Amino acid sequence: MTKNLHRCDTRIRQCLFCGSANVGVDELEEGEWHVACRECSAAGSACMGDPDDAVRAWNARRPGDAEKTGFDCRPCPFCGSKNLRIFEVDGWYVYCSTCDATGPVFDETQSERHAINMWNSRFEFPLGFAD
Ligand SMILES: [Zn+2]
Ligand SMILES: [Zn+2]
Repeated sequence: MTKNLHRCDTRIRQCLFCGSANVGVDELEEGEWHVACRECSAAGSACMGDPDDAVRAWNARRPGDAEKTGFDCRPCPFCGSKNLRIFEVDGWYVYCSTCDATGPVFDETQSERHAINMWNSRFEFPLGFAD
């Protein structure tokens, strides 16, 4: 297991993009936290202050919204925002401009289309807890 930088009181759910239980809480900057998946590099909403807020944001999955935005992406599963961007930084990924969540990241051999497909693929409820 990858060591977590912080042990939270709130249990963390498995990654909704790839189903991995290998997820943990990371400190991004001083006092800013998010939950990240070690398998696919997806990350949930960034939260200031309490790392348990980041876990709650990660756990709060928006079910079933299949509506697509202008990029052919489904809304952010963590905050419901349609304010999404697609970046290529060491691989393609979808980024939520509202809550700083990121979808699965792939190396340069993968395409923008693949990043969008992975962002759109969501495990159905209920997913188990990571530990
Ligand atoms: Zn994952
Ligand atoms: Zn979001």
